[in-house]
Amino acid sequence: MYNELSRMAIVNCNMIDPSKRTPTDSTGIIIEKNLIADLIIDNSIEIEQMQTIDASGLCLLPGFIDCHLHITGLAQGYPPALWLSQTKEERQVRSIRQAWELLMSGFTTVIDISNNGHVLKDMISRGEIYGPRIIPCLRGLAAPGGAGYIPNAKQSEIEKLHPWAITCNGTDNLITEIRQLKNDGAEFIKFWISGAGMHDQDDESKVQYSQSEINTIVGETHRCGLKIQAHCTCSSAVKMAIEGEVDFIIHGFGMDHASKESLIKKGIAWAPTCEIESTFSKPGDKQFDEFITHHYQTILEFYNSSCPIVLGSDTFADDRTPFGKFGLREMLNFIDAGIPVEDVIKIATVNGAKLLGLENLLGTLAIGATADLILMNGRPDKDPSLLNDPDNIVFVMREGIVVKDSLGLSGGCPNQFGPLCI
Ligand SMILES: [Zn+2]
Repeated sequence: MYNELSRMAIVNCNMIDPSKRTPTDSTGIIIEKNLIADLIIDNSIEIEQMQTIDASGLCLLPGFIDCHLHITGLAQGYPPALWLSQTKEERQVRSIRQAWELLMSGFTTVIDISNNGHVLKDMISRGEIYGPRIIPCLRGLAAPGGAGYIPNAKQSEIEKLHPWAITCNGTDNLITEIRQLKNDGAEFIKFWISGAGMHDQDDESKVQYSQSEINTIVGETHRCGLKIQAHCTCSSAVKMAIEGEVDFIIHGFGMDHASKESLIKKGIAWAPTCEIESTFSKPGDKQFDEFITHHYQTILEFYNSSCPIVLGSDTFADDRTPFGKFGLREMLNFIDAGIPVEDVIKIATVNGAKLLGLENLLGTLAIGATADLILMNGRPDKDPSLLNDPDNIVFVMREGIVVKDSLGLSGGCPNQFGPLCI
């Protein structure tokens, strides 16, 4: 089923190690089983006895990490009433293709908030389907009338079919729900502090949980040994998230000076999710232009202050947010904000790995790291526009297994038959 090799060399490539743990004169690596076993410097290693990939003209990087997305299986993103018209089964099947598309675009690790992540994760780890390493949140916690509510829909249908949220509030209920999520396989927890604009009452500028509920959610999550991400779309939400000591803030729109200062001081990770905002704007939208200019300024400020910015695309449905491509576009937003491309690659790899506490294994080409690798056409560090097209990612390896090989470099193209390559 898979093209698994016990020992393989990738040679003659330009190597971009965003963790800077490999010497700059390395021109290749040796992979043994699922790990990077050695580095090639000055033709220092005898490679004749092993399968060799000549990667001349290509760039070797560790796989990308998307810290916030939803493998929902949704074909259409809006309006929310449409979500319930797509059956759970249909969405589960579609989510297999969405996971595959993420992997084919170079995303080898993702944090998923959806109904499907834990099932996909199990099937991927058994080798039944292709997909990235998934850190499942399952569904996130939202206050009544918030992101988990769909107007004019039956409550029982919402509970069964909502793609990414559970409605829950009150200390005891929140504790019970977090324990249940952990029991069901969640490896990270997500919750909404402010509204998400999903319907008229779901105001993005309003906070929906009290500080004591936030403290309970974060406290119980940490007691369960998990990390927590908070949806914050206004300054008050960011303030309360910091006060509650969350690990990771998503969106972070409209932060005031004091919030920025304390976020930077505490070193809390932040995913600015620029690309998702542009999908809700129309060309020439003045309000959006003002928003994005201000948002880019904040991103640059955080970058200059060494704040751990991470990539979170908020990919959630085929039509609005094409899986994989959308995450790559988020990298281009960081470049537009003024961050040098080599540091944008660091944001999309090293910083995500650190958030997950996996920096020795992911986001690096160092010896001993997991062989989650991509080969790209050309030099993305010199021409970032290459990131605009997933076809420029010509080779993907996940834990030492070749899952994409558009140029036939490894002597076969295992993905040519699609996601279920049997
Ligand atoms: Zn989201």
